[in-house]
Amino acid sequence: MTTARQMHIGGEWVDAADGGVLESVDPTSEQVLGTVPDGGAQDVARAVEAAQDAAPAWRELGWRGRAALLRELAARLAEQAEPLARLDVRDSGNPLSGMRADASSACEEILYYAGIAPQTGGTTGPPLTGSLSWTEREPYGVVGRIVPFNHPFKFAAGKSAAPLAAGNTVVVKPGEQTSLSALELARTAAEVLPPGVLNVVTGRGATAGAALVAHPGVPRVAFTGSVPSGRAVLRGAAEEIKHVSLELGGKNPIVVFPDVDPVKAARAAVAGMNIARCSGQSCGSTSRLFVHDDVRGAFLDALVARLSELRIGDPMDEATEVGPLSFRAHHERVLAYVESGRREGATLLHGGGRPAHLERGFFVEPTVFTDVDDAMTIAREEIFGPVMSVLAWRDWDDVVARANATPLGLTANVWTNDITTAVRTARALEAGYVYVNGDGRRPTGMPFGGWGHSGLGKENGLDELLSYTREKTVTVTLL
Ligand code: NAD
Repeated sequence: MTTARQMHIGGEWVDAADGGVLESVDPTSEQVLGTVPDGGAQDVARAVEAAQDAAPAWRELGWRGRAALLRELAARLAEQAEPLARLDVRDSGNPLSGMRADASSACEEILYYAGIAPQTGGTTGPPLTGSLSWTEREPYGVVGRIVPFNHPFKFAAGKSAAPLAAGNTVVVKPGEQTSLSALELARTAAEVLPPGVLNVVTGRGATAGAALVAHPGVPRVAFTGSVPSGRAVLRGAAEEIKHVSLELGGKNPIVVFPDVDPVKAARAAVAGMNIARCSGQSCGSTSRLFVHDDVRGAFLDALVARLSELRIGDPMDEATEVGPLSFRAHHERVLAYVESGRREGATLLHGGGRPAHLERGFFVEPTVFTDVDDAMTIAREEIFGPVMSVLAWRDWDDVVARANATPLGLTANVWTNDITTAVRTARALEAGYVYVNGDGRRPTGMPFGGWGHSGLGKENGLDELLSYTREKTVTVTLL
């Protein structure tokens, strides 16, 4: 039985104004799970109006009152973590272990921003006898929060925390392929937050998303998604000169030096690809593996050994580590990248197709190409799937130049035991977040955001909270 869901605007459950719906498809069974409204400009306008109506009281509540409600929201969501994780598994295909981790990290993010909410204070100016100056930070009013399909609940909930803590009301637009858990977020939020403080409009990017970006009542837009969509968002926000932040794609390098244990580095490379959490559908996936000639053989053996251990199958099964990709069109896109790797002359070392034991579902085996040339499509474009390219290197200057030879600059990872090499390389890599001997895990509160085409602005730390405020300077002349 499928369910026709409604979206949540101003405390009410509503259909799209024109009655349109989008199907949610379970990527494991390929069965339709239900429908969500295919919202458009009229629905966005209604949500913005509700958010505007709720904004003054939410702001007046002050940081203490807002933080208390956000803590209450985090507690209720934590109680719901298991069903929320299971809903994401069905809707996105990501495995249960990963979606449990997503649910708990979303709650942690809400608690983190509730905790730092009072840090939205201002500063005073240098002492002057004839005047007094200070700055204050005020919320924007309504924030439009557009998120992608890959971490459905984590992004819908976690990325609403900073704007809410800073005193804004929010309109969330989840990824159209995986909107279900955002609607469950709205259900729980409605028990805790005043109507209109957190609204969820479902629909497609070109319609609902674009309408939210263009709406003059939304002065602050925060977008997480692909580079082409990010460009469209910037263009759409230009007319109203909006404050826009962008968290976009990556083609992230891991540089493995010859002084490390290649087995540890290979296992970290697999972890950093996020294959076991979301089938490599992660902006931070380290998909370009620059491995020094002296350790490449041992590294490749360990890489294949680790990938061969991963259990691929029904993501609802506790033992499963790798589920399907989230939707059919993306499955076709990732397989087309694999085909381009073959066609352009790379050597397929591992994987490359549908796992033999799975006839249905949008599954792709974890895949490794070797003999990859920097100019090949698989080495240049974000695949957003479980496909790794291993590239050879010997010379430090050469590998740094090649790692940086992309307009994207989200993350980079350096594997070495030599502290000088680590620091020198971390400084030379053009990325917003560099790991040394990392495996993709990041502590809460450390700023994350891309350089170059990977984005504008930082999230996850104090900067993100402050980015949802606008600074006002007041100068009082003493008469
Ligand atoms: P996408 O750009 O297709 O869609 C993301 C969201 O934007 C969706 O809600 C979509 O409906 C909406 N959207 C699309 N076009 C729009 C437009 N013109 N105006 C307004 N909204 C629009 O991305 P996706 O396929 O859902 O997600 C994958 C991409 O997201 C990858 O490139 C990945 O690297 C990136 N991503 C980045 C981060 C990060 O933190 N940097 C995190 C996760 C995903």
